[in-house]
Amino acid sequence: MKVTVRSHAVAVSACHCSMCRRWSGAAMWVLEAPGDAVEVTGPVQRYRSSSFAERAWCAECGTQLWIKDDDGPYEVSPGLFDGARGLPLSHEIYVDQAFASVVLAGEHKRMTRAEYEASERYVEGEA
Ligand SMILES: [Zn+2]
Repeated sequence: MKVTVRSHAVAVSACHCSMCRRWSGAAMWVLEAPGDAVEVTGPVQRYRSSSFAERAWCAECGTQLWIKDDDGPYEVSPGLFDGARGLPLSHEIYVDQAFASVVLAGEHKRMTRAEYEASERYVEGEA
């Protein structure tokens, strides 16, 4: 499996919703990259996780690869890239759903479930 990202956001973000907690073990970290900037070689397994998005992982080793809204950018796992380690955290969402042990330091933007769902698409019943 090889994932190449030619351009991406200048920061990572984190989500504490229930689907992301289940998928990642706690908080899900993503790095946005435009659809035409991502190139993948190797077997990808995709799961239709909602009416508007998919989640994908490597079919050989199970490593999570991305979340992607049908009409949005890739939200690739920053853990795929050693170079992403130095990126700052831009924001976290569903902070009121986070594990008590997951407290992210810094002055980044934080949104509760209600704040996020007031302006963004979301999966009904998930939190
Ligand atoms: Zn989430």
